[in-house]
Amino acid sequence: MAVTDLIAEIPLVDHHVHGALRAPLDLATFESVITESDRPAAPGVSSFDSPVGFALLRFCAPLLDLQGDVSGVEYVTRRLEIGPDEVNRRLLRASGIATYLIDSGFSTEGLLDLDEMAATGGAQTREVVRLEAVAERLLAEETSPRAFADALASDLEAAVAHGAVGTKSILAYRAGFDVDTARPDRDALRTALETQLARTTRVDEPVLLAHLLWAGIDAGVPLQIHCGFGDSDLTLHRANPSLLTPFLRASESAGTPVVLLHCYPYHREAAYLAQMLPHVYFDVGEALNYAGAHSRQVVAESFALAPFGKQLFSSDAWGPAELHLLGATLWRRAMARVLGEWVECGDWSEAQASRVVQMVAGENARRLYQL
Ligand SMILES: [Zn+2]
Repeated sequence: MAVTDLIAEIPLVDHHVHGALRAPLDLATFESVITESDRPAAPGVSSFDSPVGFALLRFCAPLLDLQGDVSGVEYVTRRLEIGPDEVNRRLLRASGIATYLIDSGFSTEGLLDLDEMAATGGAQTREVVRLEAVAERLLAEETSPRAFADALASDLEAAVAHGAVGTKSILAYRAGFDVDTARPDRDALRTALETQLARTTRVDEPVLLAHLLWAGIDAGVPLQIHCGFGDSDLTLHRANPSLLTPFLRASESAGTPVVLLHCYPYHREAAYLAQMLPHVYFDVGEALNYAGAHSRQVVAESFALAPFGKQLFSSDAWGPAELHLLGATLWRRAMARVLGEWVECGDWSEAQASRVVQMVAGENARRLYQL
């Protein structure tokens, strides 16, 4: 099979993603969920006039039976006519994503759950457990600082026994990576928990967050760490994965893989870390959607430095199923352009390009998460 046909057809493992929204979305709501900002748009500025907005109108409109250039208003009107169940079904199925590893810990109200994503998308689903969400539940249940570490470890063990394939840290959002990530001892953890509980149960104490990273390592399944570009509560330069180097070195001997998620604009740093350290992997998801047509440059750069066995595909879609579809579509288009060009100019053979497509599309994820 020609590599371009393989790229167009290969079923994908989306190794970090969230559910699709269940409810109908009016224009204002739709515009608010196709940006990572939680702020109202500037006067006279529309989310449709953006890289993701252009890509969405271009590649999703035909799946809703719309032809040619359509406006955001026309798109959302048609979306409401068809209804969310059918929109989700069409877009998820057209993505060619066969397996979703779903982060079950962020704003899940209103999102399709694992079973609904499987049924609607005609796909398999597995859970990725968000460490901060487990900790916040334990704190809300008034787990004592003394009992916390054991309760957390046993909850994670139970989640893995029930089929969870990974854990996820949002240290980038809650503190940034420029904190001490050494494994805290029991006394330090207890002090941090007391300080945390005196203020809020929303976990943001650096020592507690560092403990969560190590709880993820101890759980033995791949630990995903969000890096780079994300929601507006993140300070970008503190989410550079290079700042995680001390933690990555310290966790190397444990045997648990660490996956640097998304990483833009630090995907080159992530690729470097993936080359240097055997247990480090990475992806460039999320940026593919929000970079739109520019995503081919991001994909091209992701193939510098790192062994091809270290890169995974993800969409990091949350909310509108357009983002699940676009994650896959923009990845396929970028791969076809980048690898196609390398084959055409003789840098790679067609067989080499096909091999890399298979690895990143799913083979690496199936090996890493033991799917
Ligand atoms: Zn995510």
